[in-house]
Amino acid sequence: MIETENKKKVFIETYGCQMNFSDSEIIGSILMEHNYISTDDMKSADLILMNTCSIRDNAEQRVRNRLQELHALKKRKSSLVIGLLGCMAERLKEKLLEEEKHIDLIVGPDGYRSLPALLEQVESGQKAVNTLLSAEETYADITPVRLGSNGVNAFISIMRGCENFCAYCVVPYTRGKERSRNPKTIIEEAASLFDQGYREVTLLGQNVNSYQWEDNGLPIEFPALLEDVAKVNPLLRVRFATSHPKDLSDDLLDVIATYPNICHAIHLPVQSGSNEILKKMNRSYTREWYLDRVAAIKKHLPDCAISTDIIAGFCSETEDDHKDTLSMMEIVGYDYAFMFKYSERPNTIAAKKYSDDVSEEDKSRRLDEIISMQQKLSLASNKKDIGKVFEVLVEGVSKRSDTQLYGRNSQNKVVVFPRSSHKPGDYVRVLVEDCTPATLRGVEVK
Ligand code: SF4
Repeated sequence: MIETENKKKVFIETYGCQMNFSDSEIIGSILMEHNYISTDDMKSADLILMNTCSIRDNAEQRVRNRLQELHALKKRKSSLVIGLLGCMAERLKEKLLEEEKHIDLIVGPDGYRSLPALLEQVESGQKAVNTLLSAEETYADITPVRLGSNGVNAFISIMRGCENFCAYCVVPYTRGKERSRNPKTIIEEAASLFDQGYREVTLLGQNVNSYQWEDNGLPIEFPALLEDVAKVNPLLRVRFATSHPKDLSDDLLDVIATYPNICHAIHLPVQSGSNEILKKMNRSYTREWYLDRVAAIKKHLPDCAISTDIIAGFCSETEDDHKDTLSMMEIVGYDYAFMFKYSERPNTIAAKKYSDDVSEEDKSRRLDEIISMQQKLSLASNKKDIGKVFEVLVEGVSKRSDTQLYGRNSQNKVVVFPRSSHKPGDYVRVLVEDCTPATLRGVEVK
């Protein structure tokens, strides 16, 4: 066993979506097999890796600003190695080395296995790049290290890539073809996490509903995989993200309704409520189809929370299109939403075919209207929970007060209640007495 003091320190900074956080845990695992240990102290690091996001322009701007700070650090510590990983690395490739001279390493989402070899290249004084996308790579045989984990919740990546080519999205270009991971390795990882004390796993993919594996000629689709993970242990909660409305099946809803440990919370990005805009976005469903899926969720899982993603101000969006989005929100009654202004991304279908013609002013006003609509809906949803008892999985001490514990119910809502002898990983029954748009407040009941 190589002594810790001989090991090099790596500081991994992650931007963007849950997939990136899951990838950072795979990156950590690969490096820890090669003489590295993880550190939370950037200043003491020998290697700093930024696992980046490219979904909107401001995500990349944040990375650029951060790189300036790292440049200053490198001036003080010339041996420091800086690597840029993830979607921004994949989108910009070698060009980044010209634009940011102090970067040593550029690695795309499918190149993490080559990190040790690339780092040797850097040690010999060269810059190193690997932005090849793969049609097979799923890192299925790599056990992620749980970075900054609370020991209760963990991500399990079940597939990579996406081929839906939504007109505004860079993911198909930065993460490549869709490929599913061997279900056996997914179930093993869930069982191992349970044995380590984790009590919740989130199955991750850009579009988990199109998960597909073949076992001796027999297809295994997402409902079957979800069922097998739920069978690992009834005390292991199971969540999943993200679903594409075009693939949300009644079979899946039946499986969720059958296993109490599969959480009643579905993230179903709608993006817009207007058929005109959905068509332009290449979302492959209509308003009517989406509402039919929502009706199916409410029929199979009456207490299910529904969250979504919404883009304000997509190319050619009119006030009527915007009103369609607001009315969609009211009809569905979302519990939560991620809401953004349209940000044109280079080389996407939208950038090639449409002009970004909605003014910044209209985008901002429409986004404000969407956010205040959602605030209203979230509060209304939480108010309906007052007087109900929920099983809460304790995640820790409230960040706001150390006299309070917090956790989440099956609907993925944060619940805060008076501190007691319970510890993270315990299930507690909580009677909800009050709420805000973001939080439920209650007391423990037997
Ligand atoms: S489903 Fe659409 S929005 Fe989601 S990752 Fe794929 S292309 Fe992007």
